[in-house]
Amino acid sequence: MAKEAGFSPPKAKTWCDHLALLSSDLTRIPKSDTPCKRCQDLKETWVCLSCKDVFCSRIVNRHFVEHYEQTNHCLAASCRYHQRIWCFRCEALLDARVIPQLRSFLSPFNVSFFAFVIFIVHIPITHILSHV
Ligand SMILES: [Zn+2]
Ligand SMILES: [Zn+2]
Ligand SMILES: [Zn+2]
Repeated sequence: MAKEAGFSPPKAKTWCDHLALLSSDLTRIPKSDTPCKRCQDLKETWVCLSCKDVFCSRIVNRHFVEHYEQTNHCLAASCRYHQRIWCFRCEALLDARVIPQLRSFLSPFNVSFFAFVIFIVHIPITHILSHV
């Protein structure tokens, strides 16, 4: 077995040292169709979880990267997939479902998303409740 298998995607981290930067109120986040604050791009936008401003990704005009470089706000959530949270300092995805500080962020949005997942994969509801 070669050690450098390297093909599996990196696993989302279940903890990050920068969670202290999170806004104290993650319940009022801009809507998913909010454009980048600088260039108005709508394709690939991320919301800053420290100040809740919206910027485009590095495949568009890198405005989030600039925001991070200027402010050190390193935690971003994809506007399209809220459960996708990226830490620029860790350079890693964070698993919002298992990080308590991020669960309050997910809950107002993804109620329907999780309901859908529960419907599709038939997660026993008792299993979910035991983790609340
Ligand atoms: Zn932009
Ligand atoms: Zn910010
Ligand atoms: Zn981090």
